[in-house]
Amino acid sequence: MDDTPVLDNHMHLDPAAGRGMAAVDDFAHLGGTHLLVVNKPSWHLGVESTDPEDFRSVFQTTIDIVADASERLPGRAWPVLGAHPGLISRLVEDRGCSPAEARDCMQGVLDIAAEYVESGDALALKSGRPHYEVDDAVWDVSNDVMKHAFELGADRDCAVQLHTEASEDLTEIAEWADERGLDPLHVVKHYASGRLAGPTPSVMCRKEWLKTVAENGDAFLMETDFVDDADRPGAVMGPKTVPRRVRWLREEGYDDAIETAHVETPRRVYGIDTRGTLGEPQTLG
Ligand SMILES: [Zn+2]
Repeated sequence: MDDTPVLDNHMHLDPAAGRGMAAVDDFAHLGGTHLLVVNKPSWHLGVESTDPEDFRSVFQTTIDIVADASERLPGRAWPVLGAHPGLISRLVEDRGCSPAEARDCMQGVLDIAAEYVESGDALALKSGRPHYEVDDAVWDVSNDVMKHAFELGADRDCAVQLHTEASEDLTEIAEWADERGLDPLHVVKHYASGRLAGPTPSVMCRKEWLKTVAENGDAFLMETDFVDDADRPGAVMGPKTVPRRVRWLREEGYDDAIETAHVETPRRVYGIDTRGTLGEPQTLG
C-alpha cells in the first residue's frame, strides 16, 4: 500500500493442520510486513506432558515456522513463546496434577521459553490467566504463574504478552509487573478492546475498537489472533485483516495511530525496528 510497516502483533501459524505459509502470503499481498507468531497451545501439537522439558518441541516448531515466514515477508517475523493459561485446567483436570504441581510445571515451561529469549531465538514471553471461571486454588496459582512470567521478563528484559479475561482495567496486573521490575508498558494484553488501563493493549481489529484507541492517542498494537486451524475457519479474524484495517485507518485520517501501532509501540514495547527491517534482502522470490 505504501512503505509503512504493518505488524500483526498476535497470530498463530500451523503448516501441519492449517494454511501455514499460504496465510503469510495472504497477509503480505495485502501489505502486511511483520508478524509476531505465538506458539499454539501445547495440546494442539500433541504435547500432553507434565515435564516442562517436553515443551521444547512446541517452541522449536514455532521457531522453524517463523524462519519460513520471515523468508516470505517484506519485513520479518518473530516468535513469542510461553504457556497458554488454559494449560492449567488440562494439567489439573486431565493429568491429575494438584494446583501447585500445575503451577510448577507451567513456571518450568516459562523458564524454558525464557532460555529462547536469552539466546535471541524468541522475542517475548506469553503468559496470562484463564478467561473462564475456575476455582480459587486454580485462580491463585494462575496468578503465580503470571507473576513468574513478569520476573522472567524483568530479568531477560523482554515483553510479556498476556491472555486474560476480558477487561478494560488491568491496573492490578500492571502493578504486579511493576513490583517485579517489569515496566507495565512491556506487558501486552492480547485480544484487547479499544480501552485498557494498565498494560499495553493489543487491539483486535474491530473498527469501533480501533477508532476508540486511535482517538485516545496512547500506545497500542493491532492483532487478529488468527488461529490457523482448519477445523475452526471462522473462529477469529483472517490473516488479511490487519493490512485491511491499516488501509481503512489511513482513509479515515488516522495516520498518527498507524505510526503508533506499527512503528512506535513495537519499538517501545519489544525494541524492534519495523521500519529498519523493512525491505531486507529476500531469500525467496
Ligand atoms: Zn492466540
